[in-house]
Amino acid sequence: MPRAIEFSRPELVEQIKSAYESGATQQEIASMTGVGLKAIQGAMRRAKIVTRRYGQKHGHKTSAGSTPTYLSWYSMRQRCLNKNHEHYDRYGGRGITICERWDSFANFLEDMGERPEGLTLDRVHNDGNYTPENCRWSTKQTQAKNRARRTHCIHGHEFTEENTWIEKNGQRHCKTCWKLRTPR
Ligand SMILES: [Zn+2]
Repeated sequence: MPRAIEFSRPELVEQIKSAYESGATQQEIASMTGVGLKAIQGAMRRAKIVTRRYGQKHGHKTSAGSTPTYLSWYSMRQRCLNKNHEHYDRYGGRGITICERWDSFANFLEDMGERPEGLTLDRVHNDGNYTPENCRWSTKQTQAKNRARRTHCIHGHEFTEENTWIEKNGQRHCKTCWKLRTPR
């Protein structure tokens, strides 16, 4: 389905609006939703969302919603819940879910704390879900080390050459689990 049609869905416009009001730039929203920048701008114009003037962005820290932590929460939700997101197939599309408690950003913040600078939201088990038990803030190096150390996936399948699929960014996946989780 062409992306433009999707913008007639009010909930997507709501998502854009709430992300923008929380301090995300149009560029960030584009990358979070997997929708093109031009389309985001068009949707904002049509929805009459008032855009910030230059220089206002950095002063926009009036609520927890404007922090990097919020953006981590928001993009986690996009990857798992928004079928239009460019990486949806690697997250929501293969059955990675988010615990109900994290429907609320306030709960996420309480469980995870503020995102330390330079760290990203990481799942300890790459085939596991987004839950307080399976998530941490970590560096890209820690994430790579964690993957390198494991010889089996979380469900006990060995990472043999045949059973391993490696993404361009180095992320390793168990093909058996992938096949089981991907709806056909
Ligand atoms: Zn597996």
